[in-house]
Amino acid sequence: MIGWFGTAMLCYVTPKEHLGLPDRKDVKDGVDHLQDRGACGRPRQGPPGGPAADDAVSRARFDFRWRDQFNLALDPETAEDFHDQTLPAEGAKIAHFCSMCGPKFCSMQITQEIREFAEKGMFDMSDKFKETGGELYQPADKVAAEAAALEAGDD
Ligand code: SF4
Repeated sequence: MIGWFGTAMLCYVTPKEHLGLPDRKDVKDGVDHLQDRGACGRPRQGPPGGPAADDAVSRARFDFRWRDQFNLALDPETAEDFHDQTLPAEGAKIAHFCSMCGPKFCSMQITQEIREFAEKGMFDMSDKFKETGGELYQPADKVAAEAAALEAGDD
């Protein structure tokens, strides 16, 4: 859409996106594809299975269900081959990263960790809310006493 409105620089993806570290040819293919789409401002075509198919592969990706992700791809063999070019070991099919960002910088995994952390925080705060009587507003002197205790290092 933004290409149609005249945007000069668009972000591109390579065919190996979320499957593996792209090589020179993958980068060229990604840029060629972008130029083709960007030059004429054509919107992206949806997958053959529609939004449900798109969602299914996205969920498989987010869950690191690599086999499902390959099988849900437009071309399962090529998808698996892209993945295996850099991480061929069977153990990599259950890994929570691919070779594109690696284990320390996989945004899919980091997002999962943040979600789990936030969920735990929500439950902790929910428990605290119940422990303090389930009232939204607490007496000011009680809050001040708790803050003082926290500052003093008591918990
Ligand atoms: S390492 Fe994770 S975020 Fe990066 S491309 Fe692979 S699956 Fe996607």
